[in-house]
Amino acid sequence: MEVTQSAKLANVCYDIRGPVMQEAKRMEAEGHRILKLNIGNPAPFGFEAPEEILQDVILNLPAAHGYGDSKGLLSARRAVVQYYQDRGLGGVDIEDVYLGNGVSELITLSLQALLDNGDEVLIPAPDYPLWTASTSLAGGRAVHYLCDEGADWNPDVRDVESKITDRTKAIVIINPNNPTGAVYSREVLNELVEIARRHGLVIFSDEIYDKILYDDATHTCTATLAPDLVCLTFNGLSKAYRVAGFRTGWMVVTGPKKHAASYIEGLDILANMRLCPNVPTQYAVQTALGGYQSINDLVLPGGRLVEQRDTAWRLLNDVPGISCVKPKGALYAFPRLDPKVYPIVDDMRFALDLVRQEKLLIVQGTGFNWPRPDHFRVVTLPRVADLTDAVGRLARFLSTYRQ
Ligand code: PLP
Repeated sequence: MEVTQSAKLANVCYDIRGPVMQEAKRMEAEGHRILKLNIGNPAPFGFEAPEEILQDVILNLPAAHGYGDSKGLLSARRAVVQYYQDRGLGGVDIEDVYLGNGVSELITLSLQALLDNGDEVLIPAPDYPLWTASTSLAGGRAVHYLCDEGADWNPDVRDVESKITDRTKAIVIINPNNPTGAVYSREVLNELVEIARRHGLVIFSDEIYDKILYDDATHTCTATLAPDLVCLTFNGLSKAYRVAGFRTGWMVVTGPKKHAASYIEGLDILANMRLCPNVPTQYAVQTALGGYQSINDLVLPGGRLVEQRDTAWRLLNDVPGISCVKPKGALYAFPRLDPKVYPIVDDMRFALDLVRQEKLLIVQGTGFNWPRPDHFRVVTLPRVADLTDAVGRLARFLSTYRQ
């Protein structure tokens, strides 16, 4: 008898680890070396975990073998409260903080608790695709609002407004943005908050890259602009603290919690059902948030991440037919392939052909719910030499590629 997947998965798609990556794995098993620019995981690129974080987890491991509180360890939640108080977010209580097995788990949990079948969530295009996938899995409908490449990938506020219906429940803001590297100004955020205010939307603000900022970019925590709105802020240890494998993130609920009592009860039910997040790595949170912020060394002028961002951006723009907006934050670039020069109709096939021919792994733009097959994403985590090699392979491939 055939065993088939549930109908719930009909619109669920996460191409970052999809068919192209499977092809790369198959090639690796055959002995090929693949240059991977596909996943925002700092560890394989030589970014070591801060020593003080490792020591804290090791020290506490013998006492971390039991289940913990469903919402997370008190010490970790206290540190998160303090982190947001320092950023001007008032009225956060320990009970408003939920630890999770990465932000990923909390994204699915928070959407499952909110959405009825057919409810709509405004999500940026391009997006970090887990938001779209989790919305679909929860029975909702992802409605994409456009970010404007010609305006440094800022959200097109008129497009946001035009896509609101009586089924719209929430808006997702990803800032700094994956995959574009955009960092939104306070003014842009205020415009989005104002739309949420007018239409009574819940705000989901994914700020996992809040510390990875280049040049003079500054980050504003959306919730500080929306004290009168129900706002969930997401963040974690995977990126700035370089411990993605620890699977530790958090979510903070702010705003008029009395009006959201039923939703919060839903969040609590789902938090209880997963028993508790991974306990040992929660001991890293207090140390990470309170301690020496080693990410600062990486994003200072001349720091490794800045140099790599500069190299990737410059070399990509040097390739005929490619243009790339300079990322102001996060770990990615999202270049455009001029359709007049490269009339690509299927960008997954483009990515597959690239990995087969040049052993270079990128993610196609439609994997980020970008509506046209004319973009792709690279991570800027590899060393300058590898980035140079990668763009060289890409240019060679494009010089003869026709679809
Ligand atoms: N949100 C964004 C914007 C991301 O880019 C990622 C990972 O790439 C996540 C959330 C998931 O992070 P975590 O490792 O905390 O699950």
